[in-house]
Amino acid sequence: MRTILIVGGGYAGFYTAWKLEKKLRRGEARVIVVDPRPYMTYQPFLPEVLAGSVEARHAAVSLRRHLRRTEIVAGRVTRVDHAHKTVTVRPAVGAEYPLEYDIIVVTAGAVTRTLAIPGVTEHAIGMKHVEEAVAIRDRMLTAFDQAAGLPPGPLRRKLLTVTFVGGGFSGVEGFGELLALAKALVRRYPELSSDELSSDELSFHLVEARDRILPEVSDKPGEWVVRSLTKRGAHVHLNAHLLSASGGHVVLSTGEEFDSELIVWTVGNAANPMVHNHTDLPIDGRGMLLVRPDLRVGTEGAPVPEAWGAGDDAAIPDLAAERPGVSTVPNAQHAVRQGKLLARNLIATLRGREPRPYVHHSLGVVATLGLGLGIFQFHRLVIKGFPAWLMHRGYHALAVPTWERKVRVLAVWATAVPFGRDIVSLTSVQHPREAFLAGANPRMPEPAETADARVDIVTAGDAPRS
Ligand SMILES: Cc1cc2nc3c(=O)[nH]c(=O)nc-3n(C[C@H](O)[C@H](O)[C@H](O)COP(=O)(O)OP(=O)(O)OC[C@H]3O[C@@H](n4cnc5c(N)ncnc54)[C@H](O)[C@@H]3O)c2cc1C
Repeated sequence: MRTILIVGGGYAGFYTAWKLEKKLRRGEARVIVVDPRPYMTYQPFLPEVLAGSVEARHAAVSLRRHLRRTEIVAGRVTRVDHAHKTVTVRPAVGAEYPLEYDIIVVTAGAVTRTLAIPGVTEHAIGMKHVEEAVAIRDRMLTAFDQAAGLPPGPLRRKLLTVTFVGGGFSGVEGFGELLALAKALVRRYPELSSDELSSDELSFHLVEARDRILPEVSDKPGEWVVRSLTKRGAHVHLNAHLLSASGGHVVLSTGEEFDSELIVWTVGNAANPMVHNHTDLPIDGRGMLLVRPDLRVGTEGAPVPEAWGAGDDAAIPDLAAERPGVSTVPNAQHAVRQGKLLARNLIATLRGREPRPYVHHSLGVVATLGLGLGIFQFHRLVIKGFPAWLMHRGYHALAVPTWERKVRVLAVWATAVPFGRDIVSLTSVQHPREAFLAGANPRMPEPAETADARVDIVTAGDAPRS
């Protein structure tokens, strides 16, 4: 039996394996997915995870639960040696080991692009993974709790200042959702919603190097999004580069400077370093896997036998584009469809049939800008505001894989209608032993909370036992 090894169980990898499970005959091939994460991240839900409208766990689609006939290997592929049909796997625990295959599918996705700007690696946080979305939300909620105990002033202002760097699709969605959450939160904090909280104090900045945001929509709808965010109190800095974020002090090329507690980095994708540096498969000048329209690795005249690729790590000719020589853009619309076609094409070649080329005409763009507000564009048709937001939710409720996920997400959306969103920060989960240790050893050094908490610990420990 032949072994098909899929590197990366994200969008493209998950759908490839899912389709292979459905279409392969019993005993026809063994399928393995290698991924350090036990789940596929439904990234379009991350902006709503930020806002608390989608539970973090619901944006994670379990590989083991939904890929029942696939072997799941928890580990990171550190090298692909296609000449010897072997990958090197680094598990979370233990030494690296080789894994042999007959056919490889490379769907390792992209990574967040970073730039050498002072302070960014120390202070900024990306928005590509569930843990990042949870941390962004928790940090803002914690900042509100901290600010509520402070008098108006520079520290309180810093705590209430949020900066997103990068006005692309995910940046604008995350920014709009977090802004909506912050506006709703202020009502729960009487200390902050008094007159003393001037509009300057709760301050949201979106920094974009180009002269427009959301390049996925055309100019006019893009301008509408800027106006809509500005009307909601946001500062949109166009033609502005981030020069420094050292110590959380943001300096822009426009001369503007401000302190910001939360800096979210959404400047787009870079090639996956494993694909770029550690395979003997062909890559292009940007470090992307060279993939043919039929999703086999290689060029038009020279396919690499037994190697396939799809998704954000691959440069795939876009046969639906008006201009020749263009690659498919990195988005879920393509990754899902490429994954499904890849599985069909792979099975076709196993059975001696010809693979088909990948052609997909965009279904348009739909983005959330915060609770009840969105934008949709399909060619010249533009829909704004509440109807677009409903379309966004409807589309993603249909698109998230498996009925189990759909029902869970819909249930959270439904319960939010009467009860609203949860607004507690759980940053304490990062120090789960703190409370336990404080209880077990009452004379240990204080856990650095408040003076009142210290009194409680000493009193409880010293109290005579009856
Ligand atoms: C916040 C956000 C919102 C988005 N919203 C939309 C949207 O509304 N519509 C849309 O069309 N697109 C959207 N996208 C883009 C879309 O999510 C991506 O284009 C899509 O996830 C790409 O799929 P992929 O399989 O190529 O990569 P991914 O889904 O990123 O999966 C890659 C997988 O490979 C694994 N991996 C990486 N390196 C290795 C390795 N060395 N070894 C083993 N495994 C590895 C990773 O752990 C991951 O599971 C959004 C993206 C973000 C970040």
